[in-house]
Amino acid sequence: MIRADLHLHTNRSDGVMSPELLCHECIQNGLTYIAVTDHDTMAGSDSLVSMAPPVVVIPAVEMSMEDMPGLHLLAYGTAQGNMLREKLSYLASMREERAKEMIRKLSVLGMKLSYRDLAYKRKLEGGQDSTIGRPHIARALVRAGYCKSMQEAFAKYIGNNKPAYVPSVRMAIRDAIPLVNASGFIPVLAHPRELHLEEQVLQGFLDRLCDLGLRGLEVYHPSASSYGYESLRHMAEERHLLVTGGSDFHQENDGKHGKIGCMMQVWEKCTEDMSQFQAELLKMEQTMSIAESEVRSRG
Ligand code: AMP
Ligand code: ZN
Repeated sequence: MIRADLHLHTNRSDGVMSPELLCHECIQNGLTYIAVTDHDTMAGSDSLVSMAPPVVVIPAVEMSMEDMPGLHLLAYGTAQGNMLREKLSYLASMREERAKEMIRKLSVLGMKLSYRDLAYKRKLEGGQDSTIGRPHIARALVRAGYCKSMQEAFAKYIGNNKPAYVPSVRMAIRDAIPLVNASGFIPVLAHPRELHLEEQVLQGFLDRLCDLGLRGLEVYHPSASSYGYESLRHMAEERHLLVTGGSDFHQENDGKHGKIGCMMQVWEKCTEDMSQFQAELLKMEQTMSIAESEVRSRG
């Protein structure tokens, strides 16, 4: 039986565990298929793959889209993905500028954080090629005593449209889906219920994304629990989309995300879904290697 969690974060972006520790915890929780989906970086995913742990690790990344809040695209694949990686390093560098701007806004509001300290701490924990995000700033606000919890930091200062919020530089979904496909990765819409769209609007939006080349839907995510998973599953099946799922784990009790492997209690057809997913990954891999050998033979 396959037990999968295809949405996990490490300290290479805004989670707290190293990829190695996270992988150990996944194994302890009985998972057999995992994917590290850090924001705008494959550093954590790459380091796990190179360790060849006793679980299947699918290379992956998560990107935020500029089209609307909460619109995130997951990309899974086994190809090198150079075009995608180039874009990711640009997005990661823009995250640094954005963090500086948020710290400047916080300072105007009377909260003094040092970007240098924050960047140093983040690199110390997550390494040179880790990306910076709002949770790093939220934790720094808690450490400095300006907020009691990360939730408070988001609710008062750095949540969307709050006074110290600065949007990150993001891709448009009409560009991101084709880029992910062309890089030999599978584009999957993350946590569709976080879009807070009415049923019909969500259906229409999904149709548009399918026209752009969307290949999968993250049906099993904690944000869908209050709606029930059946409606999303049905939407995926109607559109021949792959079905994926994951906890979106960042850290214990951050008040927003799930615990490692938490979707396993509701993801009954996991083995079936993952077999289809794996077959699609293999197909992508073969297509990419044919394309590469054609390019080589043309000289
Ligand atoms: P960023 O990509 O830097 O804009 O940060 C987005 C990250 O912040 C995602 O992982 C979100 O899930 C997380 N986030 C958003 N709101 C909250 C919240 N209230 N508490 C904890 N994390 C949050
Ligand atoms: Zn996520």
